[in-house]
Amino acid sequence: MDVRTFWLAGRPATGDSELIVTNPHDGREVGRHSVPTDAQVEEAIAAAHAVAGQAAALPVHVRAEALAHISRRIAERADEIAHLITAENGKPILWARGEVTRAVATFRFAAEEARRWSGSVQRLDTEPTAAGRLAYVSRVPYGPVLAITPFNFPLNLVAHKVAPAIAVGAPVIVKPAPATPLSSLLLGDLLAETDLPAGMFSVLPVANERAAALVQDPRLPVVSFTGSAPVGYSIADQIPRKHVTLELGGNAAAVVLADADLDWAAQRIALYSNYQAGQSCIAVQRVIVEQPIYDAFVERLLPAVSSLVTGDPADEKTQVGPLVSESAAERVEAWVQEAVAAGAKVLAGGTREGTSFAPTVLSDVPQDAKVAREEVFGPVMILQPAASIDEAYAMVNDSKYGLQAGVFTRSLDAAFRANRELEVGGVIIGDAPSYRADQMPYGGVKDSGIGREGLHSAMADLTYEKVMVVTGL
Ligand code: NAD
Repeated sequence: MDVRTFWLAGRPATGDSELIVTNPHDGREVGRHSVPTDAQVEEAIAAAHAVAGQAAALPVHVRAEALAHISRRIAERADEIAHLITAENGKPILWARGEVTRAVATFRFAAEEARRWSGSVQRLDTEPTAAGRLAYVSRVPYGPVLAITPFNFPLNLVAHKVAPAIAVGAPVIVKPAPATPLSSLLLGDLLAETDLPAGMFSVLPVANERAAALVQDPRLPVVSFTGSAPVGYSIADQIPRKHVTLELGGNAAAVVLADADLDWAAQRIALYSNYQAGQSCIAVQRVIVEQPIYDAFVERLLPAVSSLVTGDPADEKTQVGPLVSESAAERVEAWVQEAVAAGAKVLAGGTREGTSFAPTVLSDVPQDAKVAREEVFGPVMILQPAASIDEAYAMVNDSKYGLQAGVFTRSLDAAFRANRELEVGGVIIGDAPSYRADQMPYGGVKDSGIGREGLHSAMADLTYEKVMVVTGL
């Protein structure tokens, strides 16, 4: 099998060793890639640093055209890219196609946002002391961005870092997840087709140990990390002087209030607890149901869960595929067994076969069980009855995480109350917490992170405001 090159300062390069990427479904080799040496990592950093001034001064039409080109090319190669995502990640092709469609939109939004991205003028003569002065406020990139990305959306979460960096004129070095580097290397192929200057991007599939050189290098002043909370905070702790964005995990709650459309709520919760085998930071994990409708809801939920199509992720009909590795599936199994040993009841699933874990519904889970408190990152939901809206919202907030929450209700009052009271970065009314549109602000509070993505928000995050005061007007 050919060894895939990586991208070093805009050029394909080969390092001193290679790694094999396997398919989580059947263990077969998907591809192998070359691994950058320490010297090549240094070369990528030096190139990003050297080109930063030129990148920031790139005309907007050049940046926007590069972004639009990538968007078009992803769309043209959509089928091939979706199959690559399915092969390296194990995500069912149905969801891989959705991820590709979203990446097309992410780059398109970035192209549009780049054209809108502009400074502003502020009059200062609101005070007599500043008469005759005017402030011109622009946003300037901090400098080259280190983008560290997780395995669960190997294309679109890379897009969410690369696209805003290009839009603001910042070089970017991608360090993809070791399980799923091939999608980001393919994205590098499309970046290389653009007129962006050499050095503007690198994709370095290095092992985590070699990533320390990237994390700590002062020539990369921005670290944009998406991944788990322990890794994210340990990275942030090493670099207190850098600008760090952390998009971390969660144990998202869906609240079903008594006035909800129960059929809709049951279908959406069944799907979005399981759709990527639960490996989404906003997958439904805790289902909080108002007492009067609890039994009626569970009656609808269980058939919706059992009708999910599980199996080979390459099959167009499959909705639930494997987890990313056998050890990930074993961890989910151990957490479910721990809850059961402490009194939880298994209403559906609970079984593992290799890398696959059956869609699982638990009730009567003790509050201190890992499946209640930690991020499961597997196809497991826990049911929790609530006596009132007050109690339901308090239960949502009884978590160290705060990424998104979903509230199924038809009441405007309950919706606005959720927006006021829930300690999360996003409240989804009428749907699961798992909803994300790529242009909207996205990120968490509490242990779910720091900063926001979504194109406009990410562009703001990668830049600082610079003011020029003009005197004598
Ligand atoms: P992870 O934390 O294990 O790894 C994330 C990235 O960090 C990978 O590229 C990994 O190689 C790298 N990494 C690990 N140790 C490192 C180190 N010492 N130095 C530098 N880099 C290091 O996460 P994962 O298992 O790939 O992804 C799943 C996690 O990501 C879940 O917690 C999920 O909730 C979270 N996630 C969050 C969002 C969000 O937008 N909030 C989106 C998707 C996933």
